[in-house]
Amino acid sequence: MTNKYIGAHVSASGGVENAPLNAQSIEANAFALFTKNQRQWVAKPLTRESIDSFKAGIARAGIRPEFILPHDSYLINLGHPEHEGLEKSRAAFLDEMQRCEQLGLTMLNFHPGSHLNAISEDACLDVIADSINRALAKTAGVTAVIENTAGQGSNVGYSFEHLARIIDRVEDKTRVGICIDTCHAYSAGYDILSDEGYQTTWQKFDEVVGRSYLKAIHLNDTKKALGSRVDRHETLGNGLLGYAFFERFINDERFNNIPIILETPDESRWAEEIKWLRQAIK
Ligand SMILES: [Zn+2]
Ligand SMILES: [Zn+2]
Repeated sequence: MTNKYIGAHVSASGGVENAPLNAQSIEANAFALFTKNQRQWVAKPLTRESIDSFKAGIARAGIRPEFILPHDSYLINLGHPEHEGLEKSRAAFLDEMQRCEQLGLTMLNFHPGSHLNAISEDACLDVIADSINRALAKTAGVTAVIENTAGQGSNVGYSFEHLARIIDRVEDKTRVGICIDTCHAYSAGYDILSDEGYQTTWQKFDEVVGRSYLKAIHLNDTKKALGSRVDRHETLGNGLLGYAFFERFINDERFNNIPIILETPDESRWAEEIKWLRQAIK
């Protein structure tokens, strides 16, 4: 029985029911997906057939819902400084949460938001927490999983303090969590590469945010330097983190029993990357 749940953000094109098949084809025991077109505001509701077929598909693939990490649309900004943009984002986010409920999924992963240079970072973080509270109040059983960012542009959520501030203001602490993206963490200035930096970064996460909030990992190598605040993913081993980092990571028991999701750019290599990670487990 494994305690490592590894997969990739697979395609759901043609319908969510295709995602479990795509996960199976790369021998994943976890996966991420978009439950709607990630570049459009409005999507048709999921059909009964599509929902049933998705549920049958994950059962057939032997992948449990707690190892599936849906990602919301890139258009949504839960920290939007203006009324109209914020309302549109909140409505779309609620729809995404409801789609997760319908699919029997337990988490929704999202980038916290951007202040668009119109409000302060702290004000933006507080708007995000308020947005999460509103969505949680109208749904049940789905945890809002906030992803750390690289801090590109006016994105907030690049520091553990930002993530902690949001969690602090969320009313239902049982339904909020964190996904750490390794590429984003490094670009944001967390030195997870050096021996000392690896230890202190995760210790800092435990101190500032709290281990119990860690619900998932996005495992990516990076093209961009420590502290560059530029978000460019790379295939495992081909970037600045390199194989030694991933070998250390996959043998770290802190990351047992949570989804570990690749968002690496060359999907033709996902099966190979997953296989490599599994054989690197000592
Ligand atoms: Zn990510
Ligand atoms: Zn990224």
